[in-house]
Amino acid sequence: AGNAPLLSVRGLNAWYGESHALHGVDLEVFRGETVTLLGRNGVGKTTTLRSIVGLIRKRTGEIGFDGHDLMHLPLHRTAYAGIGFVPEERGIFATLTVDENLVLPPVVAPGGMSVEEIFELFPNLKARRNSQGTKLSGGEQQMLAIARMLRTGVTMLLLDEPTEGLAPVIVQRIGDLLAELKARGMTILLVEQNFRFASRIADRFYLMEHGKVVGGFPVAELSSHMAELHEVLGV
Ligand code: ATP
Repeated sequence: AGNAPLLSVRGLNAWYGESHALHGVDLEVFRGETVTLLGRNGVGKTTTLRSIVGLIRKRTGEIGFDGHDLMHLPLHRTAYAGIGFVPEERGIFATLTVDENLVLPPVVAPGGMSVEEIFELFPNLKARRNSQGTKLSGGEQQMLAIARMLRTGVTMLLLDEPTEGLAPVIVQRIGDLLAELKARGMTILLVEQNFRFASRIADRFYLMEHGKVVGGFPVAELSSHMAELHEVLGV
């Protein structure tokens, strides 16, 4: 099965209490690909990422990742399977320093990066290693959140709007970082409103509406899909 997707989601439904948020999401991501989920606010992009890793337990459908059945894997086992979710609100330890944040997560797989490797990839974090999470800029917090995930040795990252609220120069730096991770073979599923940013690193796009994936195309076909994009994104 050399051609099997690394992540395969089929007919995914998810609920917040009685509220039915996902209505049969289908998507797949192949090893080494960067795929971006686009769609207006509230269509279910964040819910899709949260459901894949099991943060939302009220869900049905099929989620396969690298030979694991994520529908039946407890949340705390997903990093061991090799998939990590970086939420929009970042989830770093605000009162701990950069160093402490990097030492705390367990290195769970042989591919987990050492703190020294992290600092090579993120020189700006090294310069801030003794600063508390609360003292970091938004961009530094985002980089620290990604760095913590790289410590665990995951082979796939789910990133929820990593550029949200960041200045253009920092957005550029996050783009450089993701391009470097991609060059190293990382598989990435990205939720992103910043369409220009996504075009730089994505291989493919999926479009979401009303809790479903309604279309998709490779980045090379972007120009022929602009009308559809404008309609779905309302931009
Ligand atoms: P955004 O860019 O605003 O995050 P999104 O496409 O990621 O949008 P979701 O956050 O996944 O959308 O939301 C999908 C639907 O689920 C929306 O209708 C939203 O109001 C609803 N929803 C999200 N979180 C909750 C929650 N904790 N409880 C109840 N409903 C929720």
